[in-house]
Amino acid sequence: MLTLFLLAVATVVLYRAYYFTPETDIPVGSTNKSTPQQIASVLNTHSVATHLSEAIRFPTVSYEQHANDDPADFTAFIRWLAHTYPLVHKQLSLQYINNYTLLYKWQGQQSESAVLLSAHYDVVPVNPHTESDWTHPPFSGAIANGYIWGRGALDNKSAAIALMEATTVLLKTGFHPQQDIYIALTHDQETGSQEGAQAITEKLQSDAVNLLWSLDEGSFVLDAMTPGNTPSIASTNIAEKGDLALELVAQSQGRHSTMPQEKAVNILAAAIVKLKEKPAPGGLIGLSEDLYIKLDKHMDFGQRVLFANSWLFKPFVDSSMDSLSSDNLKLRTTAKVNVRLHPQSNVASLINRVRRTIDDDRIGLQAIAPSEASLVSSTTSLGFAQSARQTRLALGDVIVMPAQTIAATDSRFYSQITDTYRFSPMVINQQDLAGFHGVNERISIDNMARAVTFYAGLMQTQ
Ligand SMILES: [Zn+2]
Repeated sequence: MLTLFLLAVATVVLYRAYYFTPETDIPVGSTNKSTPQQIASVLNTHSVATHLSEAIRFPTVSYEQHANDDPADFTAFIRWLAHTYPLVHKQLSLQYINNYTLLYKWQGQQSESAVLLSAHYDVVPVNPHTESDWTHPPFSGAIANGYIWGRGALDNKSAAIALMEATTVLLKTGFHPQQDIYIALTHDQETGSQEGAQAITEKLQSDAVNLLWSLDEGSFVLDAMTPGNTPSIASTNIAEKGDLALELVAQSQGRHSTMPQEKAVNILAAAIVKLKEKPAPGGLIGLSEDLYIKLDKHMDFGQRVLFANSWLFKPFVDSSMDSLSSDNLKLRTTAKVNVRLHPQSNVASLINRVRRTIDDDRIGLQAIAPSEASLVSSTTSLGFAQSARQTRLALGDVIVMPAQTIAATDSRFYSQITDTYRFSPMVINQQDLAGFHGVNERISIDNMARAVTFYAGLMQTQ
């Protein structure tokens, strides 16, 4: 009897989790003025594909070293946008943020509140060693086999173009939003978002804009690879993890010390072993989830193999380091620890935890470009409900679920001032996914139509 009861409870729990569709509980505000079919019918998918193809041909590449970015490519892309989307540029106001990030404002009839739709148009570089592996050259924007090919096709020019197309479609129908719609096209997402999303966030905050929510890149819908008719999952991400690179520096005592000299490398090894053996509590949280250690070039490969695998080699490391000590080891040795931060932890507490775990004054800790995990956005907001509704209208039979983004996006700044959602309204398969920051990046023309339909529907309900 108890077993039956537990089984029933489990079934209900699973059922509820499976059909988690907040739309039924939450009013979604005004409904679409036109159906997705109507939007699709006025949409010229050929011209949408051509526009994305043209956009890809501008190599708006963000390099880690900003000096390598070519501002001319960014400027040319911005000029192309004005030329290609004249209605948008005539009827929306446009502000340049740090020269290359574009912030459009579609004035609402009431203007008491606003929403923000965002995409980035910078792209990651193409690894020169892989250039010959591309079926179509990465900046050709080739249109073939129902796809638009090239760097940025998935990440994230497709969304930038879809936003421009959606706005154009609605402007042609004479639509006016009730509240303000901001559209951001940022230029430095791949290198930290400081000049783009961070500056936008500061600006909206200082202008006291009543921003209800924002939507930016996030999970794609992965084409169901499960057998049968199981609907695909559309993860609408409500948080993102932070990122912390910690440099551990071990300083051994100098030659003139009267104390026995312990090699910096031994000190460091001991610290790393402690970190590995004492992960943060709470299962998939903080250190325990995604910790990897990069040892500096100060050590040769053999030693790195040892330290990187201390779980296996610890006894050997402990007993053999002294015999290695006659080598030309530097007195100062460093290692890097990379950690993804769960929204429940923060950089300061994590550094403290690492310090306590290592418990050794001879190890210095330095955080390199830390970013905090984002705040967690509401799943009962109007923004979440509206996005979920448009997802089903534009993408068909999918299950909308909240989740979190692992990588850093522009949204980590937006989330400081509003409920922030991360979703890319496209249905892709494993092969498509491989192109993300990889080779043969592409997006299907059908997906471009879906994305335009999604954004147009979302704008229509504002
Ligand atoms: Zn991206």
